[in-house]
Amino acid sequence: MYHFFKAIIKFIVPRRWLSAIEPCLRNLVSIPYVGNQYQCNLCHFRMSQFVKKANGQLLCPRCESLPRTRRLFQVLTTQFDLTDKTVLHFSPPKSLSIRLNQLGLRQYITSDLAGEFKAQNKIDITAISEENNTFDLILCYHILEHVDQDEKALKELFRVLKPNGSVLIQSPFKEGEIYENSKVVKPKDRLRHFGQKDHVRIYSVNGLVSRLELAGFKVEVMTWSALESNPHGFKSKETTLLASKVT
Ligand SMILES: [Zn+2]
Repeated sequence: MYHFFKAIIKFIVPRRWLSAIEPCLRNLVSIPYVGNQYQCNLCHFRMSQFVKKANGQLLCPRCESLPRTRRLFQVLTTQFDLTDKTVLHFSPPKSLSIRLNQLGLRQYITSDLAGEFKAQNKIDITAISEENNTFDLILCYHILEHVDQDEKALKELFRVLKPNGSVLIQSPFKEGEIYENSKVVKPKDRLRHFGQKDHVRIYSVNGLVSRLELAGFKVEVMTWSALESNPHGFKSKETTLLASKVT
């Protein structure tokens, strides 16, 4: 119903008006979900249920945050002190970038090369246009599986991190080895082989840890399992890599 209602609105409202009236539309489409059982930790919307996407992910009907984005915000606010820190964020979900801008960062630089997310810059992760030792923290969620030269990207992330700085990395993961095949280039073939038409590989946790270590990082694997109570609609199982430039 949620997606049907949104599709109708997109059909009848001229495209040039959509962004201007977006906050009103979000309020409108989320009305049927108002309740007290769950709460989005990004936009604070309280609801009777999340919107369940076709892939099973729980979407916030107000800010459209994904479970991984809500978890990342919780991790950032409970395990990191971001006060006065310099942060680089690749492909930032809007709901998360709004909240991060409220946390007293020294500098918050956003980038999206493909132009799918609202961001200040279009930084090529394999040739980052920043000085060495610039960032305290880099957020790199669901980026590397799109990048042909990922080992070059990892070296660049290491280069622009300050000593003792960290990058939080997540991608889809599989068991076993990394799967990549340079002969698979057509979108429909990439969808079949890698799970999405613009992905170029599927990482395994161990495989990505090895590549990060080769680039010089010390890596901690952060995992979360199913929760008895899940008021913020997190994924039941999730893995993120915390890669640090330890000196
Ligand atoms: Zn929300």
